[in-house]
Amino acid sequence: MYELRIETNFSAAHNLRNYEGACERLHGHNWHVEVNVTAEKLNETEMALDFKVMKKETNKVIDRLDHYYLNEKEPFDVLNTTAENIAKYIYDELAKNLNDGNVKVSKIRVWESEKAAASYYE
Ligand SMILES: [Zn+2]
Repeated sequence: MYELRIETNFSAAHNLRNYEGACERLHGHNWHVEVNVTAEKLNETEMALDFKVMKKETNKVIDRLDHYYLNEKEPFDVLNTTAENIAKYIYDELAKNLNDGNVKVSKIRVWESEKAAASYYE
């Protein structure tokens, strides 16, 4: 099995619902995102997946979040903007465009601060 990883960042504002504490108030983060992809076989170029494709597809998803107030963006107008839900959202959206039977998004990890991260994988 091969595994690739890219990392990227986005900045956005949010506030948590159903939460008592400072995070219920409007604030922002510079979220750090790790994208992990696995593949059983290499392609004709002997890559699991071109990093360029991985970055491009990740940016498409991240651009929907970057510099927005997340609570107003689907699906976070309904779902809480926790690191867990953000990780699952990126996982699901990226899987739609990258998974092909060989290549599979394996894990998304979202760092909300330098010392706190949530991951989603299946
Ligand atoms: Zn926060």
